Amino acid sequence: MDLLDLAKEAGLSPIKVAQTNGGEYICACPKCGDGGKGKKSDRFHVWPNQQAKNCMGHYWCRQCGIKGDSIQFCRDLLGLNYADACSRLKLQMTLSPREWVTDLARPQKTFKKAVIPNSIWQSKASVFVVWCHELIWKYPAIIASLKQRGFDEESIRSWKLGYCPETFWRDRSSWGLSEKPNANGLIAKLWLPQGIVIPTLSDGNVTKIKIRRPDPHTPQEKKFQKYVVVSGSMEVPTVYGDLSKPVLIMESELDAMLTFKAIEGICCVIALGGAQKKPNLELHQHLKQSPRILLALDFDEGGMKGNLFWRSIYPQLLFWPVPEGKGPGDAIKLGLDPRRWVEAGLKAIKL
Ligand SMILES: [Zn+2]
Repeated sequence: MDLLDLAKEAGLSPIKVAQTNGGEYICACPKCGDGGKGKKSDRFHVWPNQQAKNCMGHYWCRQCGIKGDSIQFCRDLLGLNYADACSRLKLQMTLSPREWVTDLARPQKTFKKAVIPNSIWQSKASVFVVWCHELIWKYPAIIASLKQRGFDEESIRSWKLGYCPETFWRDRSSWGLSEKPNANGLIAKLWLPQGIVIPTLSDGNVTKIKIRRPDPHTPQEKKFQKYVVVSGSMEVPTVYGDLSKPVLIMESELDAMLTFKAIEGICCVIALGGAQKKPNLELHQHLKQSPRILLALDFDEGGMKGNLFWRSIYPQLLFWPVPEGKGPGDAIKLGLDPRRWVEAGLKAIKL
C-alpha cells in the first residue's frame, strides 16, 4: 500500500504528469476539493516514491497548502490514528504512545437519540404541508423550476412538495414549542419563510419541514441561509427507502428524492441535509451493521471534511462522489445515469 493507493481510497483519481522524484501525480485535493474542475483538477500533488523522513511518499496541495508524508495522509485525510496508519503502511512505529495518542483530534463519536416532534407540532406541520402542496399547482414558475431539476408532476405529488407563497411568523406555543429568546433578547417566533416546502414524512406523519427560500435579490437577503429547517423539526437525516438495502448517503433532500426514484429502489438513499450533519443514534446502529455504504457528498471543502468524519466512523464506507457536477442533482442534469453510477459504486465495494 503506497500513497497512491491511499489517495484512491480517499476518493481521488491521481494522474501521472512527470517523472520528478520517482513520479509525480496530480488530482483534486482531499481537503479543499476540486474547485469545480472535477477529474481535471490539478491542485493536489502526490509523489508516492519520494523518500520522507519516516516513510515513503509525499503530498502537497498548492491551493490550501496541506502537505505531509504517507503517515500524515492516513491520519489527517483518512481519519486513522498513528498506530493504524503504521500498520496500513506496514511500518514500525517510531513515536512513543504518549506522542501519538494525544496529538490527533478524533471526531466526536457520540450519537443523539432522535426526538419525535410533539403531537401539536405534527398536526400544525401536517396542515401546513397539505396547504402548501395544494398551492404549489397555482405557481407554474415553481413547478417549472422543479421540473428543471428533474422532478415530474407525479414525483412532486408523491413527495408532497409544496410552495409557501409568503413569509409567516407564528407564536412558538401555537406549534407546541416552548418560548425562547431570539438573538435580540425578544421572544423568538416560529419562522415559515416563503419558498419551496420539502417535508419529511415518516409513517404518514410530518417529522421535518425544510423550506428552500427564493434566490436572494439583495445583499440583505443573502445574509440568510437558502434552506431553512422549521423549528421543532426532527433534526435527523432523512431516509428514503429500506435501510436493510445498501445505503447511499448524500447532502440534499431534493437530490436524494430524485436519485431514489431514478435508481428504482436498488439502494436506500439518505439525505443528511448538509455536509456536516451527523447520523442520529438509531441510524448509526443501522449503518454500523451495513456492509455496503456509498458516500456521495459534494466535492468541496465541506464535503471533504464530512468524508473524513464518515470514513472514520464506518471504515467499510466508500467515498463515491458523482463523476461530474457539484452534486448528484447537478450531475443528473449533466446527463449522469444515476442507476449506473450507483451500481458501479456497489461493485467497487470490496466485501
Ligand atoms: Zn487543498
